[in-house]
Amino acid sequence: MKIISITSHILRIPLGDKVFYSSQARFPERNSFLVRIETDTGLVGWGEGGQYGPPEPVAAVIDHVLAPKLIGRDPTEPVVIWEQLYSFSRDFGQKGTYVEAISAIDIALWDISGKAVGLPVSKMLGGAFRNRVKAYATGCYYPEKYDDLPQVLENLKLEASRYRESGFDALKVKIGLLDIHADAERLRVIRETVGPNIAIMVDANHAYTAATAIQMGKLIEKYDIRFFEEPVIPEDRAGYHRVRTENPIPVAGGEAEFTRYGFRDLFSEGCVDIAQPDLTVCGGFTAFSQILALANTHGILVIPHVWGSGIALAAALQALAIIPPMPHTASPIPLRNEPMVEFDRTHNSLRDELLVEKFQLVEGYVGVPQGPGLGVTIDEEALRRFQAC
Ligand code: CA
Repeated sequence: MKIISITSHILRIPLGDKVFYSSQARFPERNSFLVRIETDTGLVGWGEGGQYGPPEPVAAVIDHVLAPKLIGRDPTEPVVIWEQLYSFSRDFGQKGTYVEAISAIDIALWDISGKAVGLPVSKMLGGAFRNRVKAYATGCYYPEKYDDLPQVLENLKLEASRYRESGFDALKVKIGLLDIHADAERLRVIRETVGPNIAIMVDANHAYTAATAIQMGKLIEKYDIRFFEEPVIPEDRAGYHRVRTENPIPVAGGEAEFTRYGFRDLFSEGCVDIAQPDLTVCGGFTAFSQILALANTHGILVIPHVWGSGIALAAALQALAIIPPMPHTASPIPLRNEPMVEFDRTHNSLRDELLVEKFQLVEGYVGVPQGPGLGVTIDEEALRRFQAC
């Protein structure tokens, strides 16, 4: 089997009146970069690369630099191709766009490899520890009028009740845009709304200095917060270590980290309790398996970050299937020694409408696709619609 074509697809949908804020930015649209790799046998694989940034730079790297290296290659050796592409771009692309492009290619090559032998990627990587994964809702972002606190609190009550009623056992809340006392008030209202039995996590999107993050951790500990995601900027590993040592809440991070080398530094410098590699960012399945092994040796739980289209979610679910309970127990408990899938609940048609298969929450779980490769099928009509936007 040989690769005969590699095509970049840039997908966009404007959010209209569903625009929202994290601590970092206003989100006026959702976008995704997808790559389609076709082989001479007719088998086709799909991959996704990058998350928050504009998709065009990833497309440029693939179209102008990496794709020409792959035409004619055997697609069923993704690890070999990963090492060759990364070695080529090492001097200028150890993090960022180049690794995101390699991620997209790697996911597509594993998709093809699985399809070639009729197995899901999770089986290609050694087998699934689970066929469905407990999901946590990512939501409680900030609205356009984020500084109207009384209205913000009213809306949060409604939103948090919706998650509870749809069967979620866990909810991740955005923090970091407002002063820590206003954000603590948001968490008080959410905890009061969902009651004691739903896990709450917080995500600052690196909004704080270490000193502020430590203050915030102490302030919100009483709301039983299960992890504190991206308290400080990803480059500040000493700050991460300080937050992890001096704040009472377990620290999570890694969605903006790349490859086994980046995670090696995060782990060896004692930055996180929970690692959150994103399949579309860290280097695809090939890098993910290496990061998983490293995390395991450091006693760190892996809970992949998920943000993109249905392809990114399908890739994350295949990856989630191969995470062993850490440490092993006879009855693993989500967030303690068992991973969960991040099930973003903000408006995103690229997640909900791009695939023929739909990801549904059933009894608090999302199923791991069981078909060959990623186990999902692109809806070609939807693809055309999102490309036209
Ligand atoms: Ca995050």
